[in-house]
Amino acid sequence: MSTFQSINPYNQETIAEYAAHTQADIQQRLAWGHQAFRHMAHTSLQERCDWMLALAQLLKTNVDQHAAIITREMGKTLKEAKAEVLKCATTAEYYVEHIAEMLQPKLISTDAQQSYVSYEPKGIILAIMPWNFPYWQVFRFAIPNLLAGNSGLLKHASNVSGCALAMEDVFLQAGFPEGAFQALLVNSKHIEPVIADSRVQGVTLTGSTAAGMSVGALAGKYIKKSVLELGGSDPFIVLKDANLEEAARTAVKARMQNAGQSCIAAKRWIVEEAVAEDFTDKVSRILREMKQGDPFNAATDMGPMARPDLAGELAQQLQQSINQGARLELGGQQESANFAPTLLTNVQKGMTAFDEETFGPLAVITRARNEEQAIELANQTPFGLGSSLWTSDLDKAKKLARQIDSGNVFINAMVRSDARLPFGGVKLSGYGRELSLEGTHEFLNVKTVYIA
Ligand code: NDP
Repeated sequence: MSTFQSINPYNQETIAEYAAHTQADIQQRLAWGHQAFRHMAHTSLQERCDWMLALAQLLKTNVDQHAAIITREMGKTLKEAKAEVLKCATTAEYYVEHIAEMLQPKLISTDAQQSYVSYEPKGIILAIMPWNFPYWQVFRFAIPNLLAGNSGLLKHASNVSGCALAMEDVFLQAGFPEGAFQALLVNSKHIEPVIADSRVQGVTLTGSTAAGMSVGALAGKYIKKSVLELGGSDPFIVLKDANLEEAARTAVKARMQNAGQSCIAAKRWIVEEAVAEDFTDKVSRILREMKQGDPFNAATDMGPMARPDLAGELAQQLQQSINQGARLELGGQQESANFAPTLLTNVQKGMTAFDEETFGPLAVITRARNEEQAIELANQTPFGLGSSLWTSDLDKAKKLARQIDSGNVFINAMVRSDARLPFGGVKLSGYGRELSLEGTHEFLNVKTVYIA
């Protein structure tokens, strides 16, 4: 029987082993998920909001236990894990407050006596999720969907099964009907029949481009709506009139948090020539002070990466970039899943660290002659998820923001996902949106009703 192992990335100890679900288990979960969807159609929005508030409370009360599960399985620091769990709780509360207005039928005047758009649930939504924000990525999909009346089936990354089961449990404890939110412990190669099943009415995936291509193709094959939130190689553009101190501090945070394993991490720092030296000095100073180590230790700023193979891949990308002419300013050491905060300068288009997504604590600086070249470099990537632009001239910033090909542009701030704002990408970063009104409507039947 196949199993999933959870391994502590900091010390490589096996934490637990979970038996994969059999074909019969999968069928059972699909049946429960469908039943729960049917059941929820007869519940009021108020009832679902009450369950969601209970869930938010449970996450807050048990934040320490949930955070420890995350840190043990994927290595982020305990303080980052706590912040992640609390963000899920506050997002649940935000949606409870706003879901009624998001689902409000929209009256549209036509030649009918009355015509309107009604937003209705469709069935089971399959979520294929990654390990990097193992709670947040899941809750940001599950909260609006369950409030709207869909049920959720989670195929989580195979290294975070403990997180998947803990989340299943918290939905049940909060009062949601059995089957409303379930974990499916299956290998990705067994996902096709689940997507094909008529009770599954949509699929959302956060992960690599390769996974997105495969799942997007399957969704198309079976005519299922899909949302893909894939990788990024987000530019962090610093113009010469920026507040450099603030930009440097934020750049380090935006690249190094979660040990650099975030789709919206600031993966390419593009700095105007006139301030490049000063900026490099400032970020080097901050990076040197970062403490790497045991993620359970309160003094640690950065834990290990989630798996040794991911750290190994990053080491290869680093070495290739050095061979191509990039200069290693600091860091570069890798041992098992531990990868030191690293800074490369003299990075240019054509080098691996510029052309590919780097998913770990590797910061790179590319110099731009002027703001036109900075924007040109920012767009020289197949990805388009987020961008951060630093300048003290806000009129100029708004003009330049329109020239950047990405789903999000944050001016004088790091890119982050926020329940109130739509989140998603363009180009190889995927399609569709999560969160906000746009994200909430993705998996609903946008039904036109016309009364003659
Ligand atoms: P993957 O994209 O392989 O994994 C993400 C999720 O997709 C997991 O649940 C995985 O399941 C599943 N999956 C993978 N391939 C398929 C498939 N063909 N059909 C269905 N489901 C699939 O990420 P990795 O863990 O391998 O990380 C590799 C790279 O992906 C990273 O270095 C980074 O570049 C990118 N990534 C991007 C993320 C983001 O936030 N956008 C998050 C994580 C990774 P399983 O674990 O069982 O393979």
